Amino acid sequence: MSDTLVVNEIYLSLQGESTFAGLPCIFIRLTACDLRCSYCDTAYAFTEGEKKQLAKILAEVKRLAVPFSNSQLSTLNSQLPLVELTGGEPLLQKNSLPLMKLLCDAGFTVLLETSGAHDISQIDPRVRRIMDLKCPSSGEVARNRLTNIPHLKSNDEIKFVIGTIEDYEWAKQHITRHKLDSICPLLFSWVHPLAPEQQNKSLKKVPAGQTPISRKDLAEKIIADALPVRFQIQQHKIIWPPDQRGV
Ligand code: SF4
Repeated sequence: MSDTLVVNEIYLSLQGESTFAGLPCIFIRLTACDLRCSYCDTAYAFTEGEKKQLAKILAEVKRLAVPFSNSQLSTLNSQLPLVELTGGEPLLQKNSLPLMKLLCDAGFTVLLETSGAHDISQIDPRVRRIMDLKCPSSGEVARNRLTNIPHLKSNDEIKFVIGTIEDYEWAKQHITRHKLDSICPLLFSWVHPLAPEQQNKSLKKVPAGQTPISRKDLAEKIIADALPVRFQIQQHKIIWPPDQRGV
């Protein structure tokens, strides 16, 4: 097996989401995705990328982490900077598994962002998996691999990206049906509208008849329903222009 991955970009920024939001993080964005969520803001990663050897990727991550090496920075048992594999869908490339192991062996706190459409059971147990459950407005709800749920642990996270009232109700039902709040932290992430240049023609349409929800309404519904979830907005889209890459 070749020891390469097709990589879209590697960069140091701040983690914009999850319970790790706000912490320095090196992102490894892998190329390709087999979903086409209506709100996808990284369509450029569907095809753009360059083959890189795992050793080269690890070397690049270590280079970006150098400024942190003397500061003994760590928080909540996490080494900084964090390292996150994202995409696209990292699990589409089999060599994402050995890369995550290499990064863990090197002492990094490793996060994985995955769509929830692929098997998560073979991932190194040290990796913190942030798994989506795709809500109806994504257009990809049929792709949820619910057999992943029993593999989730307390240090993983489940993310619902919510753009409509129907998404909210769907997420609420699934939390109850699968007792998700007893497994790991739950994230309710408000859909940030796409900038015109992000609107890729291949993305699914929001199914007809759904009602958009504002972030204020989403926050207020969570409070009114006393849901055991963490509301989040994508911090990087507030700090930098929402369509800026590499942040
Ligand atoms: S899973 Fe959806 S949001 Fe994530 S990269 Fe693929 S199409 Fe985009």
